[in-house]
Amino acid sequence: MANMNQGGYQPILILPEGTLRSKGKDAQANNIAAAKAVAETVKTTLGPKGMDKMLVDSLGDITITNDGVTILEEMQIEHPAAKMMVEVAKAQNEAVGDGTTTAVVFAGELLKRAGELLEQDIHPIMITKGFKLAKLKALDVLEKYGTDVGISDEKQLQQIANTAMTGKSAERASDYLSDLAVRAIKRVATVGDGSIVDTDNIKVEKKHGGSISDTMLIDGILIDKEVVHSGMPKAIKNAKISLLDAALEVKELEGDAKISIDSPEKMQAFLNEEDRMLRKMVDSIVKSGATVVLCQKGIDDMVQHLLAKKGVLAARRVKKSDMDKLAMATGAKVVSSIEELSSSDLGTAGNVEERKVGTDRMIFVEKCRQPKAVTILIRGGTEHVVDEVERALEDAVKDVAAALELGKLVPGGGASEIEVSRALRKYADSFSGREQLAIQAFADAIEVIPRVLAENAGLDPIDKLALLRSEHDKGKKSYGLNVFSGRVVDMLREGVVEPLKIKLQAIKSATEAAEMILRIDDIIAASSDSGRGMPSGMPPGGGMPEMM
Ligand code: ADP
Ligand code: MG
Repeated sequence: MANMNQGGYQPILILPEGTLRSKGKDAQANNIAAAKAVAETVKTTLGPKGMDKMLVDSLGDITITNDGVTILEEMQIEHPAAKMMVEVAKAQNEAVGDGTTTAVVFAGELLKRAGELLEQDIHPIMITKGFKLAKLKALDVLEKYGTDVGISDEKQLQQIANTAMTGKSAERASDYLSDLAVRAIKRVATVGDGSIVDTDNIKVEKKHGGSISDTMLIDGILIDKEVVHSGMPKAIKNAKISLLDAALEVKELEGDAKISIDSPEKMQAFLNEEDRMLRKMVDSIVKSGATVVLCQKGIDDMVQHLLAKKGVLAARRVKKSDMDKLAMATGAKVVSSIEELSSSDLGTAGNVEERKVGTDRMIFVEKCRQPKAVTILIRGGTEHVVDEVERALEDAVKDVAAALELGKLVPGGGASEIEVSRALRKYADSFSGREQLAIQAFADAIEVIPRVLAENAGLDPIDKLALLRSEHDKGKKSYGLNVFSGRVVDMLREGVVEPLKIKLQAIKSATEAAEMILRIDDIIAASSDSGRGMPSGMPPGGGMPEMM
């Protein structure tokens, strides 16, 4: 409700009853507090010594993770500014697939510093202007700071994968898994001037049971389905593969349609016709020369039986996403009309075989025509372990791909952040007044990363920051904090390295979100009756949101 009392007249209502509104400093303070609360939530998970969170959804399903974007997505955040922070994590995740906590923590810190400047009556526009300048400078500094890495630098690529996984539950087998991640990447990379890696070519399947070290790289596509009939062969060499997205069944009658059968002859004719249709399907499959049939829909018992007799291996209800991957890998066309199936629609693979994985059976489509098709089969004691290994491996694969994309890596453990911070302080000196303050605030804010890494490892953040700064002053640019030994050492030598792209992206997404939040000075929220709802913790007068 807008309440504009004009000189004692009746207040003019321009918004519906129940609308909550907060303006100016209140709105800013409120948004900043909400954003800070989000950053605070994920802060403790940053770095290898970060803690995990246990998330329980409304159905009671549990996720245990320290992955920033997973945590925020599961939290069902309502406050609009807090939601923008979740967007930071999502943007980061989409662009690189890692560095989500870093981006959110940095955005929170930027806003905290901005809040301090607002209190000194510096206009938000001046702050965002300074932040923008600082951002561009930071990106420039980082690009020059990165070291080269290419597809043949196997050791460095493994170190990147390893760094991505430290601190996750997959860490126990991280050497093994990094090797696997790098091998998978090498298989799918297109090497030219730089390397292009389409990580979508790496399929991930999970099956709990066994141990993490049973996780394996499969040369081809793995489908979580069994061969449909026990009389079918379990393996076929030099397979000719047909992909069908039509049912190998006679359609059931739809709706109210009825067939009336009033004599044994009609009954027999009906059965004969059904029989004939099914046989025709089998005939066209056999005629096409297919030896393997992978069907997205169902397969009738009789068709199964007939295909088995012809020595064809078949699986049914294969997922659509698997069909697409199979089409790419084997060169087969997905056919929806069985009568039109021809030999030119078939794909090829060196070996199609059903094997036991744990207690289940799965179909391996190996040595595909397109050699870039690979699958990682993740194993682990329980479903939670398998899920967390999946997230860790995903980070590893994405990080290696990101490093190859720009061909650059940077030392971790806060080394790059300290370097950026130093450069920005110097840069700030070339400005005066309010812009200078904003650039300095940015320089202070980015140090939050090494500070939190130290805090989370139970180390004294003030000592460690001082040490980091003094080493960098001496020109030891790649020195960072090793959270395991607690020492400030050369991260390149320790092998704690990350793709440059993570750092660039984290700065971009965090600064953009901070700018966007700072520009808001009026929040108008419809009443909760209307269904959209005023988020809890956003009182009209500003103040702290009740997050967490
Ligand atoms: P994010 O979601 O941002 O990727 P992580 O929890 O994965 O968060 O932590 C990443 C941070 O941990 C990076 O700043 C990285 O440099 C740091 N890190 C990784 N390994 C080490 C290590 N051994 N010592 C210190 N810092 C490390
Ligand atoms: Mg990470």
